Amino acid sequence: MKAKKKMEKARVQLLLDNPFFGYLGSYLQLEESDSLNNPISTDHKKLYYNPDFIEGLNETVLKTCIAHGILHTVLGHQWRRENRKTKTWNSATDLATNWLLKQSGFEIPPDSELRPIFKDKSAEEIYSLLNLEEERKKQKAADKNSQKEGRERKDETGGEESKSEKENTGQLKQDSMDDHRIWENVAVDQDLDQEEIAEEWKRRAAESYASARGEGKMPEALERLVDEILEPTLNWRRILRRYILQHAREDYDWMRPDRRLLQYGVYYPSPHSERLDLAVAVDTSGSIRDDDIELFLSEVKGILESVDSYRARLLACDAKLHTDISVGRDTGLDVERTIDKFSESLKGRGGTKYSPVFEALDDEGVQILVYLTDGRCSEEIEEPNFDVIWVINEGGTKKHIEFGKIIKLEEKNF
Ligand SMILES: [Zn+2]
Repeated sequence: MKAKKKMEKARVQLLLDNPFFGYLGSYLQLEESDSLNNPISTDHKKLYYNPDFIEGLNETVLKTCIAHGILHTVLGHQWRRENRKTKTWNSATDLATNWLLKQSGFEIPPDSELRPIFKDKSAEEIYSLLNLEEERKKQKAADKNSQKEGRERKDETGGEESKSEKENTGQLKQDSMDDHRIWENVAVDQDLDQEEIAEEWKRRAAESYASARGEGKMPEALERLVDEILEPTLNWRRILRRYILQHAREDYDWMRPDRRLLQYGVYYPSPHSERLDLAVAVDTSGSIRDDDIELFLSEVKGILESVDSYRARLLACDAKLHTDISVGRDTGLDVERTIDKFSESLKGRGGTKYSPVFEALDDEGVQILVYLTDGRCSEEIEEPNFDVIWVINEGGTKKHIEFGKIIKLEEKNF
């Protein structure tokens, strides 16, 4: 079969088997290119292919190659390098991409870069780890050489050094699926508005996600990733709800014994309800509008009302903790009235500190803290032993936040 036909067929097959990738792939124009060192390559507009490689590939591998290129583009790997070293960045992006593909059910060719320790990590995180690895290896090689030098005092050492350096970089071999050289053109093209391109691809990803999900063919592994790429294009309410509800655990209700076991004389609770231990904090110091707070709290209330059982701590804090109320089944307080009361108490406007909230929650058995803040606080906080979701209001910043998940509360996504 001719290469072009084969490419077209693989794209159609992708649309049927993995519509998320299939839809996204349809935005890329096919173009033959003999100069590629690998089967394919993608920038923000085209899917290039080298017929010499394509003819020898089976459809399964070809589909993986195409999805690999698409994922690079959706994730913006072509323009996220900044001043990182090209070779290491190439490896990092391939490692990130290939894990996601594997988790989405694609068959990864055996000679591709795939390392379990990088599972669920972004290209940037992997890059830092690879860099560290390289430095350690260089250090080790240097130590070895100096030891050797000490023992033998031979002139050959210089040669040894350059050889071991070559070996190091040799391990960061380029993935065999696609050629990344074309990325440099995208990165340096001054006429391209990279932010605009990234936005456009986010929009496409949102649409493809909705369609694939509608067909029931959205790989679960990609859902979290999609939230991250699309934030803030996706509805913040949905993301918040999902993150919070992931923490609701089965609660054993001792008032409702499991009847199947009761007939054998065993009194065991039935695990029919969900239990959520949540803390909600509002930073009352900065520029958060009352409307934002109201929207945020109404969503929190809705989430609490949708679980069978919960315990929630509501905290308000600027430079100090002002309010700390608990609400839940055991407190006998009505959630609506408690949240209203909490909302009325939100007066502050001092400086911002997070530590009073984290100190108040230390060892309290909280599973998750949701913190509404403008992010304008550079206080260093140690990562706690519960999960944290930062909800940043419009105009707020996430640049000081060092752990946890971040959701942007944005008006256009209501
Ligand atoms: Zn690649």
